[in-house]
Amino acid sequence: MGKSHIPPDPGRKIILKIEEARKLIRNIYEGIRSQSPPHHFEFSDPFWVLITTILSHRTKDEVTDAASRGLFERYHDAEGLSGAEYDEVRSIISRVGFSSVKATRVIEAARIVMNDFMGTVPDSVEQLTTIPGVGRKTANVVLADSMGIPAIAVDTHVQRIARRIGLSPFEDPYKTEERLVKIVPREIWVGFNPTLVEFGKHVCRPVGPLCSTCSISEYCEFYRNGSSRQKHAKQKQNKS
Ligand code: SF4
Repeated sequence: MGKSHIPPDPGRKIILKIEEARKLIRNIYEGIRSQSPPHHFEFSDPFWVLITTILSHRTKDEVTDAASRGLFERYHDAEGLSGAEYDEVRSIISRVGFSSVKATRVIEAARIVMNDFMGTVPDSVEQLTTIPGVGRKTANVVLADSMGIPAIAVDTHVQRIARRIGLSPFEDPYKTEERLVKIVPREIWVGFNPTLVEFGKHVCRPVGPLCSTCSISEYCEFYRNGSSRQKHAKQKQNKS
């Protein structure tokens, strides 16, 4: 008989990590919250949260908010925007990234809300993602931020921070969402995205995260691995 062989179990490490992360997540979240300014919500109405989130892709918050305000002041609601002229919408949102595509998308979204959902933004990911340009991230933002329905939207900030801390090993935001919903207690899903967005803008920034003053560095894999110091050293070298 050959020697008995115990096969590798890649799932084992992940399961243990989830259990470990579950024990730490409240401390991590409170630490993040304590360092993050309150998130500014331009709108609370589901339709305008939907439109704002469609506009926000690859666009600065202040530019997105101004464009949404412009549309709101001109068209007021889904019915108004559903009958809008493309050229006028495009002109109002001209400063957002990909404005020509987004002008079509927001008019289409308004028409679908009016025609398929009787003027009311639907309250499920499945229905919301039938609207062109609406993926899981946008759908989860609408559910959590405008309806208070527990959902975790994984945007660029949540994705980066989750990976840095070691909460998710995945590059695919959908897989990160699946993992976070196993780790994060349901009662904090609603606040999770806005809190991490602010943390990502002010502390755990894409370039030059403020690790030396970050209050959750003790939990952070990126910090423990010395990645930030290596990156800073590399940045200094590149400049010199
Ligand atoms: S220690 Fe650095 S990388 Fe880790 S969460 Fe804090 S700012 Fe982000």
